[in-house]
Amino acid sequence: MIQVLDTHQLGASGIVAATALGTKDGLVLFDTGPESTFDNIAAELSRIGFGPADVRHVFLSHIHFDHAGAAWRFAELGATIYVHPKGAPHLIDPAKLVASAERIFGADMQRLWGRIAPISERNVRVLHDGDRVRIPPFDIRAIETPGHASHHHVYVWEDNLFGGDIAGVRLGNGSPLPPFVPPELHIESWLESLEKIRAANPAKLYLPHFGLVPDSVSAHLDAMEERVRRWSAWFLDRIRSGADEQQLISAFADYEKAELLAEGADETLVHDYEAADPSYMAVPAALRYWRKYHPEQLSQ
Ligand SMILES: [Zn+2]
Repeated sequence: MIQVLDTHQLGASGIVAATALGTKDGLVLFDTGPESTFDNIAAELSRIGFGPADVRHVFLSHIHFDHAGAAWRFAELGATIYVHPKGAPHLIDPAKLVASAERIFGADMQRLWGRIAPISERNVRVLHDGDRVRIPPFDIRAIETPGHASHHHVYVWEDNLFGGDIAGVRLGNGSPLPPFVPPELHIESWLESLEKIRAANPAKLYLPHFGLVPDSVSAHLDAMEERVRRWSAWFLDRIRSGADEQQLISAFADYEKAELLAEGADETLVHDYEAADPSYMAVPAALRYWRKYHPEQLSQ
């Protein structure tokens, strides 16, 4: 049994998911959604005949709040939380994470993400690249996949892959977009991570934003690669020609929107993509990436 559970974050459908897998040792969740939607996930679980305490294992793609915010609630009920080595310290002591989120989201923190609390070290299990966890009848393997965040894993079992954010945001009948966010965007790593996903050769790809990819996984990954390359080059061109952050924010919002509309998206779908992956976030991400890793490209 695999079920995509809708968090209905901020009342919207089809934006942020937690993905449940039935095993002989209770439920596995791949990402939890934010803490603010814990009750919605509890309702989704009861719809399929379970409760939050049936979740015994939580595999986090990364620790951004829309993916991991509710992890501590499941840990309190006894679940083991699996996470990348660089993510684990922030689950055990989220103070720094919360402080930096408060700088970004301010008074909106509670409404967007809910409450964040520490997870007992006993409930946290660090997974390194290639580590496998046996949860009968499955063998769940972590693949380290940086690029969107430096502490990102995807997870493979049988011919399925849970793709986190590195595998793209794909909503409704839209195409996959790479969520460029600060401060860890790294283009070369992203392309390598897509190669690792290709090498795992999954037949089915599940995305936290949102659900099962409806067509060929390889076509999806090709589209992702094309966009990661083109979007990063788009930013490079504009940064080199002297655009400032405000100009980039409005230009990139227009660029992304025009692309979605040209592919047949309607205004509602464009709005949903903005909700899942706000376009303004790509700007500080891309500025930081080009300045930090390729300053020579900017001075030519
Ligand atoms: Zn993320």
